[in-house]
Amino acid sequence: MPDSAFQQCIMPACQARFGMDEVLYGCEKCGGLLDVAYDWDRCPVPSSFSEFISRRTTPRRTLESRANSSGVWRFRELMPFAPLEDLVTIGEGQTVLQQADALASRIGVKPGCLFLQYEGFNPSGSFKDNGMAAAFTTARRLGKRRVACASTGNTSASLALFAHLTSTAGGEPMEAIVFVGSGKIALGKLAQALDFGARTIRIQGDFDACMKLVRESADRLGLYLMNSVNPFRIEGQKAIIYRVIEGLDGETPDWIIVPGGNLGNSSAFGKAFIELRELGLVSRVPRLAIINATGANTLFELYNEHGLRFHGGAVDLQTIDSHFDRMNSEGRRARTVASAIEIGQPVNLIKALRSLEAMDGVVRQVPDEAILDGKALVGRYGYGCEPAGGASIAGLRALLAEQVISRSDRVVCILTGHSLKDANATVDYHDQRRDDAPQRALANPPVDAPADLDAIIAMLQR
Ligand SMILES: *Cc1c(COP(=O)(O)O)cnc(C)c1O
Ligand SMILES: [Zn+2]
Repeated sequence: MPDSAFQQCIMPACQARFGMDEVLYGCEKCGGLLDVAYDWDRCPVPSSFSEFISRRTTPRRTLESRANSSGVWRFRELMPFAPLEDLVTIGEGQTVLQQADALASRIGVKPGCLFLQYEGFNPSGSFKDNGMAAAFTTARRLGKRRVACASTGNTSASLALFAHLTSTAGGEPMEAIVFVGSGKIALGKLAQALDFGARTIRIQGDFDACMKLVRESADRLGLYLMNSVNPFRIEGQKAIIYRVIEGLDGETPDWIIVPGGNLGNSSAFGKAFIELRELGLVSRVPRLAIINATGANTLFELYNEHGLRFHGGAVDLQTIDSHFDRMNSEGRRARTVASAIEIGQPVNLIKALRSLEAMDGVVRQVPDEAILDGKALVGRYGYGCEPAGGASIAGLRALLAEQVISRSDRVVCILTGHSLKDANATVDYHDQRRDDAPQRALANPPVDAPADLDAIIAMLQR
């Protein structure tokens, strides 16, 4: 299996290939991002999607059934870079695709047309577990013991959980080292990193600063870097798309809407569809909508205001460099209530452009108020989500208003993280007691009452 898989530069003018054992976070020739790539002719892939779906019922005794019980490895032929016995799993990918009719009615979508993909139901509470299953598989195969990431919170939570549940090939425990920005991480996520035993380095700086520092530390100390510049993370996150198709009984929707931070998901989704189309497993590719927060809108600006495109790989790198230089010299930092997407210089920018090209995509920005209302709608009509997930709903509402999406299009919104990750954001939204509290469309404030039965009964009879 391994020699039909390799790493490859995504830039069509370069396409340099590298072996599976090389630890690389970019192309050694041109600096471009790397894909995990396959000689599909030499990889046996089931001839229809239903073969993957039928695996869900298998019991859990053999290596094979253990892999089938993972929402990532059930689709292993679509990411064939490691043999069955090497696959790391902690039970990731047991997620739900909910047909959300009540929410659909409320926002003007035809019932039966809106679906919510709840990635918050992963073991660490976010979609990051999909990518970590693949990245840990590779870390262990490479004999790595110390793994590291920069994080707005969920990558560190996922890394910390996988690290203590996974041992090295030699049987030693793994060590997780996480860099987080002081005051930049929701309480629930910080709690997880500490609880799961990660060495948690709290930096006076934001995500972009942490990212730069962890890359340099990884270089100097030989730590294995688990951010989404690691191409194996992207491989695992393709499984989100496979489960969406599974949830739709093998069909593809018209639209997939996802919040954009470091753009790992956006990158993975495009790669998944490029491959599924090439393999003949789907006949139609949905359109992609990537939603930025207005306060962290680098992709939006580059794509819509500077007209930056993938152009089959002929990306205008100068436009990106000068945009980043301008951000740096003006001291512009990302700022949004959705801390998971509070990122100014997304590392997967070019892969995301490839996805936008392959999926005829659009990019929109939504303000924090709209993100919080979107999140509250998922709370009111679904299982809830953290603020970044609310950006998917806010983006959908914006695209409906523009009539880019029609009310009878079949739409899947990706909800990236669990609502308990950022309970402060939720309570702040609903609790309207502060005099300066902004008006919230779906506020459900607690009602203060004395510990007195008659008073409470009087109150509830009203
Ligand atoms: C990491 C994360 C994001 C951003 O995803 P990217 O793939 O980096 O764009 C969005 N939402 C949540 C909850 C996250 O944890
Ligand atoms: Zn290259």
